[in-house]
Amino acid sequence: MTNYDVIVIGSGPGGYVSAIRCAQLGLKTAIVEGRDTLGGTCLNVGCIPSKALLHASHSYHEATHNFDKMGLIINNPKIDFDKMQNYKNDVISQNTKGIEFLLKKNKIDWLKGWAKIVNKNQVTVGENTHDTKNIIIASGSEPSTIPNVKIDENRIVSSTGALSLSKIPKSMIVIGAGVIGLEMGSIYSRLGTDVTVIEYMDHITPGMDLEISKNFQRTLKKQGLKFIMGAAVKSAKSTKTKANVIYKKADAEIKIDAEIVLVSTGRKPFTNGLNFLEIGGELTERGQIKTNNKWQTSVEGIYAIGDAIAGPMLAHKAEDEGMAVAEVIAGKHGHVNYDVIPGVIYTTPEVANVGKTEEELKDAGIDYKVGKFSFMGNGRAKAVFQGEGFVKLLADATTDRILGCHLIGPAAGDLIHEICVAMEFGASAQDIAMTCHAHPTFSEAMREAALACGDGAIHA
Ligand SMILES: Cc1cc2nc3c(=O)[nH]c(=O)nc-3n(C[C@H](O)[C@H](O)[C@H](O)COP(=O)(O)OP(=O)(O)OC[C@H]3O[C@@H](n4cnc5c(N)ncnc54)[C@H](O)[C@@H]3O)c2cc1C
Repeated sequence: MTNYDVIVIGSGPGGYVSAIRCAQLGLKTAIVEGRDTLGGTCLNVGCIPSKALLHASHSYHEATHNFDKMGLIINNPKIDFDKMQNYKNDVISQNTKGIEFLLKKNKIDWLKGWAKIVNKNQVTVGENTHDTKNIIIASGSEPSTIPNVKIDENRIVSSTGALSLSKIPKSMIVIGAGVIGLEMGSIYSRLGTDVTVIEYMDHITPGMDLEISKNFQRTLKKQGLKFIMGAAVKSAKSTKTKANVIYKKADAEIKIDAEIVLVSTGRKPFTNGLNFLEIGGELTERGQIKTNNKWQTSVEGIYAIGDAIAGPMLAHKAEDEGMAVAEVIAGKHGHVNYDVIPGVIYTTPEVANVGKTEEELKDAGIDYKVGKFSFMGNGRAKAVFQGEGFVKLLADATTDRILGCHLIGPAAGDLIHEICVAMEFGASAQDIAMTCHAHPTFSEAMREAALACGDGAIHA
């Protein structure tokens, strides 16, 4: 058996990125993956397939709603859902094979099967035991549910089932108005499904800047999604033709049904079968692997990253930790700035954020100023029928240093990175305002919001 410097468990964005960085830093590295394909949740049943279906359903929406306005006459666009699924599967396959290529290129061994940690220097995969100096756990997460709601991936589905339905349902109930539920709800709503979202809180996307969240909900409502807010789901049951959901709102118990129920009430760390607790590893109360600020677990030589530990369950957060932990193991100074991790919702319009929300600044007693700019004042946005939405930049009232940015609008998921870079450099709103932005681009709205933090936006 090869004696490895590092064995990485799990090939999601945390694991495979970490393995590549380990190899680049000269460490003899293996990666263990139990699925048939590499890439973890993100590439197989998460970020990538959902974005493929968002793209396909958005394109259909454009064809049915906006093509005509531009003089593009395509009579009666139709959906071939099997073909759409094939397209999605092809996108997954291209991406997972791409990771296989990258592992080979970096001379990383792929140990196929489920890993069990024997001790801090040994991992078994099937019949074989492999020796290693270090172990990185990147075992990811799995969908979680709520009491009396059992996911059967047939009528009551998780996001995994929702990505691979055999046909477009006539109706869908989405339990939970978080990122995944709203992205999946948007996909099916655009394809013609009657989508009802049930949420426990009185606003969608908990944790998001409230003004953006309210604006986002209004936009989704206009697009046809229905919302039942402040309602607690008590149970969901499958029948042969539909699924029934009982929820409690105020004091009333109400029963509704739909062809499909999507449970999107969050995800929980996946640590089954690792043998981690048995060898002295510790979990938090929420089932996350406990780590210190160098991603070291309570067992020396064993590290953990990504969805399996605390923090936002995001692919890029897992990737950053993957690179940083490799550097720590190689004796360098791995670092992740948790204050500058962007969040994006890939609906149309997109929603993006980084840094503090207005509510957080108020709570912390920080004196701030707000620069806002509507995409209505952005010529490019209007040309692509996306004048709705706005940019909101938050800066320190005294120093002008950027503290956060929240936006809803075209390409928001790309635009946010200008602010991420600015925040990493400790930039002020004026720094953005003084930077020349090409015309006509959506990015001009970012500059205008920065100008609004000072003497005023030009096109407001
Ligand atoms: C529908 C959906 C959409 C999403 N969209 C986005 C998005 O747009 N942007 C974003 O940033 N995030 C998104 N996410 C979240 C993102 O997928 C996760 O944050 C990310 O995949 C976490 O990466 P990870 O490496 O920690 O774990 P994972 O990607 O979960 O990978 C863990 C891997 O470890 C393997 N594994 C576990 N235990 C073992 C073992 N004992 N032996 C061998 N292998 C093992 C698993 O099989 C799995 O392949 C989405 C998630 C879902 C479900």
